Amino acid sequence: MIREADLWELETEKRKHVKLPSFLEQGFSALKRDVVDKRICSLCGTCAAFCDKIRISENELKPELVEGYDTICGLCYAFCPRTFLPLSEIESRIFGAEERKRADGDVLGVYQSCYAVKSKKADIKGQDGGAVTSLLAYALEQGIIDCAVITSSDNNWKPVTKVAKNYGELKEGAGTKYTIYPSAMGVKEAMEADCENIGFVGLPCQIQGLRKVQTAEQPYEVGKERIKLLIGLFCMENFKEELLDFVMEKVSLDLDGVRKFDIKGKELLVYDEEGKAYAIALDEIKGYIGEGCSVCMDYTAELADIAVGSVGSEEGWSTVFARTEEGAKIVKGALEKGYIEAKKIEEKGLGVIRRLGESKRRRGSAK
Ligand SMILES: Cc1cc2nc3c(=O)[nH]c(=O)nc-3n(C[C@H](O)[C@H](O)[C@H](O)COP(=O)(O)OP(=O)(O)OC[C@H]3O[C@@H](n4cnc5c(N)ncnc54)[C@H](O)[C@@H]3O)c2cc1C
Ligand code: SF4
Ligand code: SF4
Repeated sequence: MIREADLWELETEKRKHVKLPSFLEQGFSALKRDVVDKRICSLCGTCAAFCDKIRISENELKPELVEGYDTICGLCYAFCPRTFLPLSEIESRIFGAEERKRADGDVLGVYQSCYAVKSKKADIKGQDGGAVTSLLAYALEQGIIDCAVITSSDNNWKPVTKVAKNYGELKEGAGTKYTIYPSAMGVKEAMEADCENIGFVGLPCQIQGLRKVQTAEQPYEVGKERIKLLIGLFCMENFKEELLDFVMEKVSLDLDGVRKFDIKGKELLVYDEEGKAYAIALDEIKGYIGEGCSVCMDYTAELADIAVGSVGSEEGWSTVFARTEEGAKIVKGALEKGYIEAKKIEEKGLGVIRRLGESKRRRGSAK
């Protein structure tokens, strides 16, 4: 990655500008010791996306070293959201110090605008209002991005990342998959496909990893300038793949007969092809929650350009926070060009998001 002879020069250069810590002396063994073995890895996929020596094994779903030789370059350690997360530093860089200060401590995070949003495209069948797919469609069709890394699924609801380059491909991502997948790895696929302006949609932990990649002024040349748009999803928790077997047995359905999974209130709802809903109490499935979720404190994707969730808006609408200037421009443009419609979010709705965000912070900080 970098020649040893360059290290001192780089180190000197970095000290002029950088406040983020650097971990040039660390390798994968340090990441394994401090994150994987401590069972706080969220499986975001960032480490494997930017280092060819790391892969996330399909069977065990954990990062491992591909080769025996552990390069001491520090990239995985620096980019992983679970080694250290200098939130205020990152927020100051992406939102500006003043904006950051104004929102300090609020679980809603920094935002310029906030709406309940619904797609105006009849063929977008989203999880909630179809806001994510419609915003990506606008960004793609306007040339703001040349691809979007989305998480689609196979016939058995197993998540798969896809580099969507057109409207038809984008629509394949619509809908929520409630099992853990290292979607940030899709950014690598996008780079390998020569995309220059990459949009990504993912969970708060994945957005944190990619923001570290973008903001850490490190000596690694990973193409961070090609990551142009980060859309984050609200997230209370995600689940291990085994959840699906448990749930299917419970509701006596086959996975290929499931149209939609949805968490509403204290239940996981499973919809069959006819639209009939089967409910399972969240208490019954809490044993399947990913280990890395237990320390997570970000409910509303606080570091995204645009954050989207269901809570806060009525059924069939998505709650959308435009956080950065770029994010706000995209939401405004999508409104003007008729991709989406929007209405105000009631204080009561914001109150529910706040309450859930605060409970997630409490849960994460108790660990
Ligand atoms: C694991 C998980 C937990 C969530 N928890 C909450 C919550 O607690 N509260 C809440 O308000 N909202 C939560 N959401 C968000 C919510 O389910 C919707 O994704 C959101 O409201 C956007 O809906 P939409 O109709 O606008 O998106 P759509 O237009 O349907 O697009 C959905 C997008 O989500 C992406 N996606 C789907 N599954 C995954 C995944 N597993 N990993 C990464 N990306 C994925 C797809 O790429 C797609 O682009 C969660 C989402 C996920 C994936
Ligand atoms: S949290 Fe993400 S970056 Fe850190 S070890 Fe796990 S997969 Fe890799
Ligand atoms: S709870 Fe946190 S760690 Fe778990 S999937 Fe959601 S954002 Fe990632």
